[in-house]
Amino acid sequence: VHSTSRPFDYFMFVRQWAGTFCSEHNCPLIHSHRYQFTIHGLWPNYFDGSYPQFCDPKYDFHEDDLGDLISDLKSKWPTIFDDYWKFWEHEWSKHGTCALDVLPTEHSYFSEALDLHEQYDIEDVLKEQGFIPSDTKTYYYDDIVNALNDEFGVRPTLHCDGDGRITEVWMCVSRHFKAMECPGGSQTQCPHEVMIPQMHNPSGKATTV
Ligand code: 5GP
Ligand code: 5GP
Repeated sequence: VHSTSRPFDYFMFVRQWAGTFCSEHNCPLIHSHRYQFTIHGLWPNYFDGSYPQFCDPKYDFHEDDLGDLISDLKSKWPTIFDDYWKFWEHEWSKHGTCALDVLPTEHSYFSEALDLHEQYDIEDVLKEQGFIPSDTKTYYYDDIVNALNDEFGVRPTLHCDGDGRITEVWMCVSRHFKAMECPGGSQTQCPHEVMIPQMHNPSGKATTV
């Protein structure tokens, strides 16, 4: 980890399955009845495995710049905690400011992440193939990754908690916003069989979509 700002090499695009965290915690901003992976971040990386962070401390976060994106951000980039803006500002200052050479504004950074999220639609693929949230079923790690690979043409890496429940899906994306295999290969902490727990989130917005 260093905080130079030499140009980054590629992005790590990270989506989260809030159902794992929100089965045990209250997540007021997470829709409890949606099968939805949401955005965690779009992170500039170097090929050597390191990454830049907080590249421009002088670049303030301007909420106003995101005006037309806010409703999409609220549904697709919500926080498991209680403050959207704190999460977005954190992602922007830690990661977004390191991608200014290809995404020169806050608006372009958040807008590109939303586009990628739609283009590489995880729950669309998983639903289609029957990998739905369940508190009793387990799925083979490889089956899930193969299903995503069939659609995306690359193999994302799943992240799990200590009980083999999926927390995140990480995929690599080039500076030109095309999915790519991750340069360092992919290491996972997940077991061979993983779970996608159902959302038990009493305080979540109960909107069915
Ligand atoms: P964790 O250790 O929970 O995986 O990651 C903690 C934080 O470190 C992440 O929120 C992210 O900001 C940063 N981080 C972890 N791995 C990477 C990576 O591969 N690339 C980048 N750019 N940041 C990372
Ligand atoms: P990272 O540093 O890994 O890019 O982002 C993680 C930071 O964002 C942590 O400080 C965490 O407390 C905060 N955060 C706020 N909302 C969320 C969320 O929905 N998911 C995750 N993973 N972190 C969040």
